[in-house]
Amino acid sequence: MDELPVVVVGAGPIGLAAAAELRERGLTPVVFERGSSAGAAVSEWNHVRLFSRWGELIAPAARRLLATTDWVAPDAQAYPTGQDWVREYLLPLADALGDNVIRMGTEVVGIGRRGRDRVVDTGRDGEPFTVHIRTVAGREERVLARAVIDASGTWSLPNPLGADGLPALGESDAAQSISYRVPDLGDDSVRARHTGRHTVIAGSGHSALTAIVALAGLARQAPGTRLTWVLRRGEVGDTFGGGDADQLPARGALGARAKQAVDDGLLQVVTGFRTAAVEPAADGRVVLVSESGARVEEVDRVVASTGFRPQLSWLSQLRLGLDPVLEAPVQLAPLIDPNVHSCGTVYPHGVYELAHPEPGLFLAGMKSYGRAPTFLAMTGYEQVRSIAAALAGDHDAAARVELTLPETGVCGGAGVFDDPDSASGDTGGGCCGAPAPAAQAPTSAPQLITLDPVGGAR
Ligand SMILES: Cc1cc2nc3c(=O)[nH]c(=O)nc-3n(C[C@H](O)[C@H](O)[C@H](O)COP(=O)(O)OP(=O)(O)OC[C@H]3O[C@@H](n4cnc5c(N)ncnc54)[C@H](O)[C@@H]3O)c2cc1C
Repeated sequence: MDELPVVVVGAGPIGLAAAAELRERGLTPVVFERGSSAGAAVSEWNHVRLFSRWGELIAPAARRLLATTDWVAPDAQAYPTGQDWVREYLLPLADALGDNVIRMGTEVVGIGRRGRDRVVDTGRDGEPFTVHIRTVAGREERVLARAVIDASGTWSLPNPLGADGLPALGESDAAQSISYRVPDLGDDSVRARHTGRHTVIAGSGHSALTAIVALAGLARQAPGTRLTWVLRRGEVGDTFGGGDADQLPARGALGARAKQAVDDGLLQVVTGFRTAAVEPAADGRVVLVSESGARVEEVDRVVASTGFRPQLSWLSQLRLGLDPVLEAPVQLAPLIDPNVHSCGTVYPHGVYELAHPEPGLFLAGMKSYGRAPTFLAMTGYEQVRSIAAALAGDHDAAARVELTLPETGVCGGAGVFDDPDSASGDTGGGCCGAPAPAAQAPTSAPQLITLDPVGGAR
């Protein structure tokens, strides 16, 4: 098994960081990327400026690898757009890793244990993974792997508009009127769709705030542009984030700018709105109808910023240990559950929190957070550092925590704020206390974990 590669699914920021870590540890990574180039998902939100600085967006092992090339590091204090992140970091990193490490245009369509479906116990852990891949040309192949790091993100599976997590009645038929992405108003055709029209923004996360700020800018310039913001929660409450208390200043500033747009009267805010149906109107527009029968009429466009969920179908033959609520690894879920806390005081974590009953399998990056919304790239870099160390047999390094995460300055989370009686979202849970020193991070100690993350390697 040790002769086999470690397969990494996805050449996004975390998949590439995993490959750099594995390579540094003398292991053999093979990265399969569905898109035609590295950072394919990030490229789809090219126009969005990140709230993290460059200094927080470059993985340590990747930086070390890039330092051996003619790469020029961007200004650590500057804030890149998605496009900058891809051009100035992910593409050079993919080049440095090389074509023999990354296979573009190759989709992972299934992963199993060789000769053992999910039910079979006998000899299971002694068999390698079989990774089923399909190339853009439609050719199928099987690749054996000693371990798998699934860093395929959640971008391809946005949550529907329906408040129950399923498409609202009529949502599919109204697909022409609904977008699940932050609109790129730099694109003339997209801008024209919103100019002088009525757009509804649904959701309360950072993407919704980004959409609000962009569309409010348009509303200031283009008369007749109408905006309505629908939220499930009963009060706007702390939706705008921690402002000055946010340890990521640009994230705090984003909330402050969205709040300013609301204060300036550029949006009509509709709280407690749980979308049940999207009805066609006679004039070609649509009407949003809530579970309680409230209606938002004369809607030209809907921007659904309702979060994402992980694609798990092609992992169905593996034994995953996922939390039933978040679909995140069971040890990680309590640290990131938005029903409990969304302070960004997520404790850095690694291989032990990411373990599954299937040894050698890890979900990393955005996908590891399942349906939780607060993922930061630096969290993912720490995850894959720890996983690579464990796979290399360096369990001290795997258990060590080498990261302190910034706080948002906000207590409470999506689940809590959804409660109409919770105006402030103050749960009393105290999750906005000072972050625990890394050495005291409660779940990093391997002895707390019953699962054996890397199987035979331990
Ligand atoms: C608009 C936006 C702004 C954000 N801003 C910040 C920020 O400021 N700071 C921060 O820290 N984080 C931010 N994030 C969160 C997070 O850091 C990013 O989403 C980051 O891209 C996650 O990296 P990832 O590698 O886990 O997933 P992704 O970037 O989604 O990469 C996954 C890759 O896997 C590929 N893939 C998917 N399925 C398959 C398959 N079956 N086979 C092969 N390949 C596959 C995809 O094509 C993609 O290239 C932001 C996210 C969004 C959406």
